Amino acid sequence: MDLHSGYPYSLVRHGLPFNYPKLEGDLRTPVAVIGGGISGALMAHALVRAGIACVVLDARTVGLGSTGASTSLLQYEIDVPLTELKEKVGAAHAQRAYELCARSIDKLEKICKRVDDAPFERKHSLYLASFKKDLPKLEAEYKARKEMGLDVMFWDPAKLKDLVGLDSPGAIYSRTAAQTDAYRLTHALHQYNLKKGAQVYDRTLVQDISFLKKGVKLTTAQGYTVQADHLVIATGYETLQYLPAKIVDLHATYAVASEHHEKGPLWYEDCLIWETKDPYLYMRTTPEHRVIVGGRDEKFYNPIKRDKLLPSKAKQLQQDFSKHFPHIPFAPEFTWTGTFGTTQDGLPYIGPYAKMPNTFFALGFGGNGITFSQIAAEIVCDQIRGKQHPDADIFSFNRYKG
Ligand SMILES: Cc1cc2nc3c(=O)[nH]c(=O)nc-3n(C[C@H](O)[C@H](O)[C@H](O)COP(=O)(O)OP(=O)(O)OC[C@H]3O[C@@H](n4cnc5c(N)ncnc54)[C@H](O)[C@@H]3O)c2cc1C
Repeated sequence: MDLHSGYPYSLVRHGLPFNYPKLEGDLRTPVAVIGGGISGALMAHALVRAGIACVVLDARTVGLGSTGASTSLLQYEIDVPLTELKEKVGAAHAQRAYELCARSIDKLEKICKRVDDAPFERKHSLYLASFKKDLPKLEAEYKARKEMGLDVMFWDPAKLKDLVGLDSPGAIYSRTAAQTDAYRLTHALHQYNLKKGAQVYDRTLVQDISFLKKGVKLTTAQGYTVQADHLVIATGYETLQYLPAKIVDLHATYAVASEHHEKGPLWYEDCLIWETKDPYLYMRTTPEHRVIVGGRDEKFYNPIKRDKLLPSKAKQLQQDFSKHFPHIPFAPEFTWTGTFGTTQDGLPYIGPYAKMPNTFFALGFGGNGITFSQIAAEIVCDQIRGKQHPDADIFSFNRYKG
């Protein structure tokens, strides 16, 4: 699958920090993980922390899947607002999903403190009403979040203008957010995991999976085999190769990184900013004072069509930014586009899938895929250990209606 093109900022910024070998022999392991992006890296991290040896296999060079294109905002906010999610999956599951996403930011912070060179910055976030007509829904969303104990405030237009210099009818200000660099973090995690006994092989395509009475047998494109008691599939949007097609809708999204500014912050607290309109626009800054702006999504997968639109989408994103912050110079330096996927209820699919024994899925679908990947790592690690995870039902395949 063609996952991205252009110059994703993380790839330009960090290049190839580490090399990993190709698999060139047969192996046996307690757990095999297919996919070495952020989901596979967090999965392997959870496993090694639990004392379970694992082998990670990736068809690409590590990190060059969707992870390399990520803009790496860490938000507890799911693409589907809490008020809508309650209608889709019930109040208990909706609130718990939001709570788990908020907690996963704390957990990612802990992990990043433990792992060398793992980027993580605490941030606050602003969720802006794009139009006056969005205010009633935004106020209801604020109330719902406040009621469940999330650390939020409602800001009126005067406060937004005064503190941030933004013209907007209102916004939810959240004190639970962060940013990372998913690509750099993935490498940092693999380096940590390798020291704890994990094995990582890239440029190693898994071409066939056989389900055995006890475990699975993987065969690579080079004809080597990996026998494992358990398999974790962390193949991002390419997971569609294993599943009924409609669990995820694939879209095209666009991003621009500006030239760096000499100093920051560029706006109030350099907080993360996004908004109510669909598709939404989002903005953040980087530690070297660049602005990253993303959005302008299109509801199709076609990579040729997606790539053709990149110059005009980049221009639109630049204009979107300048409309919000006319006083901040924005000179685009790197532009890129990528595929991303959303599910009907905005929640990812995590855990076992009936048709594939001894196998678990660790998927991070949606605009906040990284927080989902962390939740997946925890749930699947427990399931591999034979434990029931209390939140597994929220994300299980049983909710798929076809
Ligand atoms: C432009 C853009 C911006 C984004 N911004 C954000 C953001 O701000 N915050 C956020 O949380 N999320 C964001 N996302 C989403 C986030 O990047 C993804 O959720 C995340 O990177 C998915 O990681 P992954 O490891 O699941 O998938 P991937 O990074 O795609 O890794 C899966 C790996 O599996 C490998 N693979 C597939 N099939 C096989 C096989 N048969 N054999 C061996 N290997 C295989 C692939 O080579 C790939 O490397 C964004 C996505 C895009 C495109």
